[in-house]
Amino acid sequence: MPHCLVRGSINVDEYYYVSHISRPGETISSHGFQQRMGGKGFNQAVALALATGGGDQGKVSFYGTVGDDDAGKGLRERLEKATGRAIIQVADDGENSIETTHVLLQNEINPKSTLRAIEFAEKLVTIFNPSPMLQKDEIVGFPWNKIDWLIVNQLEARLLLASLDPSQDVQEEEDVRNILQNLVNQPAFSKTRIVCTLGAGGVYAIGNGLSLAFAPAARLEGPVVDTTGAGDTFAGYFIGELMSFEGREIRELDVVRLLRVATRAAAMCVERAGTVDSMPKREEVERRFG
Ligand code: ADP
Repeated sequence: MPHCLVRGSINVDEYYYVSHISRPGETISSHGFQQRMGGKGFNQAVALALATGGGDQGKVSFYGTVGDDDAGKGLRERLEKATGRAIIQVADDGENSIETTHVLLQNEINPKSTLRAIEFAEKLVTIFNPSPMLQKDEIVGFPWNKIDWLIVNQLEARLLLASLDPSQDVQEEEDVRNILQNLVNQPAFSKTRIVCTLGAGGVYAIGNGLSLAFAPAARLEGPVVDTTGAGDTFAGYFIGELMSFEGREIRELDVVRLLRVATRAAAMCVERAGTVDSMPKREEVERRFG
């Protein structure tokens, strides 16, 4: 059975609602304040649990750090509710009956912990969502060849290329398809498949034997209400689909199908307010899109 370990951040996000983003030196008042459970690790673990059937399947574990305070306890309870409680049997010889097959990482914890997880995942399918993007010197020294799937947005793709190949003068208006073609031609990404999300513009995937695949964003039933969590919903559902392959080869046609499931789930997330609370359940996605 596939099992994904999500190693990453878990925290309380504070949202201040303002009329505009303040400029340097400007002091502005907020007209609203909200606290939400968050952290990309937490969000993606919840999305993945929803994608793989609600958590009680024991397909998802989260590994992160919370404090002993009320916020920490609340986060823990919410996560246990989402991911279910995996019953782990440990035999006398210490053998653990859950065998991890996939590892999902973001960049909101100490990079040393992420690098350690990449080492641990040596023989596993490793998925990395470098958000926020690494610093330039971190990008150059990063073990990209150990990443099987990289999930980025357009801006992150451009930053990666500009750092890895300074000879290329990557313009802001550069076509994302050129950026992705160039990225997968870099030696660093010879073994990596890159998935690049473009918000309402859809999503591309390319690399490691796969030519450029595209899926449009799914049609919304109403207006865009809140895009927070959309990228994390996309990641969770995409990986949920990857896990269903259980070691079988993923071909070009499969990739488009995987992208489509993930864009549908992400679209449903932007129709509702909230982060993890706006992520759709698998049945809801199936009911809407068949
Ligand atoms: P990030 O927040 O990580 O930059 P994106 O903005 O690219 O991520 O959004 C992730 C995914 O969410 C997109 O690939 C798309 O499938 C979906 N999405 C985001 N905005 C919309 C929208 N306005 N309409 C439909 N789908 C959307």
